[in-house]
Amino acid sequence: MKYFIKTFGCAANEADSERIAALYESRGYTRARTMKQADDVVVNTCMIRASAEHRVYGIVHNLTEEKKKGRKVKIVVTGCMVGMAAREKTGNMLSQLGKKMPGVDEFLPIEEVGFDFAAIRTDPHHAWVPISNGCNNFCTFCVVPFTRGREISRPFADVISECWQLAEKGIAHITLVGQNVNSYGADLVVGEKNIQVMRDLPDKTYFQKRVSAPSRKTAFTVNGKTITPTYVKHLGRLRIPTLFPELLKEICAIPGIKLVDFISSNPWDFSDDLIRVMATQEKISKDIHLALQSGDNEVLRRMNRWYTREDFLDLARKIQTAMPNARISTDIIVGFCGETAAQFEQTVDLAKQVGFSKAYVAMYSDRPMTAAHKAYTDDVPHEEKKRRWKILEELINKTNLRNGTYAKSIRYA
Ligand code: SF4
Repeated sequence: MKYFIKTFGCAANEADSERIAALYESRGYTRARTMKQADDVVVNTCMIRASAEHRVYGIVHNLTEEKKKGRKVKIVVTGCMVGMAAREKTGNMLSQLGKKMPGVDEFLPIEEVGFDFAAIRTDPHHAWVPISNGCNNFCTFCVVPFTRGREISRPFADVISECWQLAEKGIAHITLVGQNVNSYGADLVVGEKNIQVMRDLPDKTYFQKRVSAPSRKTAFTVNGKTITPTYVKHLGRLRIPTLFPELLKEICAIPGIKLVDFISSNPWDFSDDLIRVMATQEKISKDIHLALQSGDNEVLRRMNRWYTREDFLDLARKIQTAMPNARISTDIIVGFCGETAAQFEQTVDLAKQVGFSKAYVAMYSDRPMTAAHKAYTDDVPHEEKKRRWKILEELINKTNLRNGTYAKSIRYA
């Protein structure tokens, strides 16, 4: 029996597909070279933009037609579309998915795949290593907290052990993957349930309460080592501690690992500690991906991003001072609900000041369940979104390509 996996979306989905492959191979299946040769086709879905969803429907439709003509194929759908539907308590969403894709034999929530089998990797030099799943941030445009649920970190020792095993197999380049990768471990430190509460408390309340907060730990032992969490008060908001700098240090100490990078990091968890570790560890790539989304404070506020343009500029300068060879790439959304031409110009101005080495520029796409979908109107015309997209493409990506400064070495799916 043969399986084939079609993966849409980000690095997290790529990493999930490697675990799905492991599950199939544990059952005696082998990988099919093409979709046509497979007995089981797994479609790992993405919902970040409507266009990604439409491509999924297209593939499943074609497979369903082949089935009707007599092909024996099992269609399995997993990833974000299933994650969101499986979390919806009434079951309506799951039954709607079933109606939209009647040929599907199984909707597989990714959580059911687990980490029991070593991921099947095809690249002999590079590995994606998932370190956390989900997100607690609820940026108003983003569907991820609904598709992947709350952020849960993999145990520290599990991640380190996987990295040792990869190094022993000769894999020298590791990319750590998480939706909010640099908040790794916050839930391990304070407990999953306390994260939202602690995150949202104003500084003063938090510091008054922290002495008596029963869940707060100042140090704990992991992998035989005592770790003192770093409390990150950064970019105008209090953040809960993150173990990400510790994790990076520990991975860099593994012989055989020569290059470590990570995706995707957010400004509010980019602590001074993290910058210090990155600056001092030669193995850590200085290609840094830092999601901006907008350079305008009002748009950032409506996006529920926890920083201002000034905060972002300060952080970029701090990184560039500590690591003069740093190259910062980013994500930007153009045409978010209500974004005026003047607000867009703020993004252009910020991009000029930072000098991004690459940008994933996306035209805003209205997504179900999100706060922006419920509270705002997708009111920037498509032509205007496209105009703004072209300006940033020219300013960042095309200019970098012409100058030979494009960050092509960053491994993002
Ligand atoms: S940080 Fe924001 S954009 Fe990133 S996954 Fe979480 S909600 Fe989505």
